[in-house]
Amino acid sequence: MDYDCIAKAGSMLGSGAVIVMDESTCMVKALERLSYFYHEESCGQCTPCREGTGWLYRVIHRIENGQGRQEDIDLLDSVSDNIMGRTICALGDAAAMPVKSFIKHFRSEFQYHVDNKHCLVPVELQREGSKIYVG
Ligand code: SF4
Repeated sequence: MDYDCIAKAGSMLGSGAVIVMDESTCMVKALERLSYFYHEESCGQCTPCREGTGWLYRVIHRIENGQGRQEDIDLLDSVSDNIMGRTICALGDAAAMPVKSFIKHFRSEFQYHVDNKHCLVPVELQREGSKIYVG
């Protein structure tokens, strides 16, 4: 595993960290955490990142909390497209890429949340410590 090989596979290694998630992980909640991180880390210099990361977080947050709308999944994809390649530093792309990737590979989990207003993963299987604290 190195930077060039991962780039050839269509992704990027970033800081080199790898997160392993099993079937007890809700992918909507996992993406909610990631998007909250990027929203918090945005310095606000450029509009697509400043506004876009907030949009991404808020839309994912409402899906996770059972208030998702049918159009939200495509909206996430669209907001991500409008961030990528339009920011000063790499944080914008880093915020958008996981959103596109999660939707591409786990769209059915997002759709389940929207349709059923709750998570696909049974509560007893969900991991501890998954709460996000918004200051
Ligand atoms: S892309 Fe970089 S420079 Fe632009 S607002 Fe985000 S963190 Fe700041």
